[in-house]
Amino acid sequence: MVDFVDREMSVATQPTVCMHCQDPVAPCAQVCPVMAILITPEGVVQMAEPSRCIGCRNCVYACPFGVPKFDIKARLMKKCNLCYDRTSQNLKPWCAQACPTQALWYGDYEEFINQREGHAVNLTAFGTQAVQTRVYHVLPQETPKLDLIALLDKAGAKGGEEADFEREEAWVL
Ligand code: SF4
Ligand code: SF4
Repeated sequence: MVDFVDREMSVATQPTVCMHCQDPVAPCAQVCPVMAILITPEGVVQMAEPSRCIGCRNCVYACPFGVPKFDIKARLMKKCNLCYDRTSQNLKPWCAQACPTQALWYGDYEEFINQREGHAVNLTAFGTQAVQTRVYHVLPQETPKLDLIALLDKAGAKGGEEADFEREEAWVL
């Protein structure tokens, strides 16, 4: 899925890729009452199986990264599944394939260390809680985790009352 950063002001978009949560493992799947979200042996968290999803939106509320989007017309949760049809055949997911600057990059950790610059981190903190993921962020050196509360505090301090983090019903397609 692609989110618009500020649709009125810019054409910039942000792909909302599933982080394939490892610890705790896939909160979205854990709260699904009908086991519509399956996890492959490699840890890829799949999108909802249409024949099972009952549209309860539990997964939408449980995901700490805001990944699942609820398609009202289809009454179905939709999300990134690492283009499993491609990645299971050793092809890159489309986002990494198409990204002209390779800001989105696909490979394992060892390949990243050998081929890329930067500090790959797979820990995201939400206050006192942290989630370890199979997808990595690239952060400045000596940054042990992506601390979202600290970032929000920093942005709030910069922007003061102008800071606007509200995006009404951003999870509805
Ligand atoms: S919306 Fe569908 S996939 Fe998500 S928790 Fe409910 S039944 Fe499961
Ligand atoms: S990022 Fe969200 S959708 Fe992806 S595995 Fe984690 S909880 Fe599920």
